[in-house]
Amino acid sequence: MSRDAFCSCCGGSLKQRYVEGRERQVCSRCGRIHYKNAKPCACALVIRDGRVLLVRRAIEPFYGYWDIPGGFLEAEEHPAAGVVREIEEETGLCIRLTALLGIYVDTYGAEDEYTLNVHYLAEVVSGEPRPASDVSELAWFAPHELPLDLAFRSDYQALEDWQRAMRGEFTPMALT
Ligand SMILES: [Zn+2]
Repeated sequence: MSRDAFCSCCGGSLKQRYVEGRERQVCSRCGRIHYKNAKPCACALVIRDGRVLLVRRAIEPFYGYWDIPGGFLEAEEHPAAGVVREIEEETGLCIRLTALLGIYVDTYGAEDEYTLNVHYLAEVVSGEPRPASDVSELAWFAPHELPLDLAFRSDYQALEDWQRAMRGEFTPMALT
């Protein structure tokens, strides 16, 4: 916890206290508990001819590393809508979601900056892939030729789950 943390309600200083089974930040003035939560993100493994679309990051953290396209959700946004928006922004592709692959907890750069990542499988509806915001390059990878310089732990986990699904070891969840 940062030593200069203050309460967003009253401006009082936050203290580390053991509350509800774990260390939490509690306001020394108004007593409010400041819960830490992961930021929700949505990503898509866009599949075409058995290959998955990955993007090379043109922003920090992990500038230059390969990543599954996606991003942070807006406050009111459902992951299924947010991921379609993010993929269009990053790749120019209009996609259709085909299944829910998995949900992964990860960190974004800093150790304590947690993300909750909803990963979908998707297919291309229209558009030509072109690198757009935050992305310098796009490429399609077969399951056996995935790049080794992936940005995030959740990239490795989701791609491993995709490989398992391709081998028939588990079935991604149908979307209702
Ligand atoms: Zn307070």
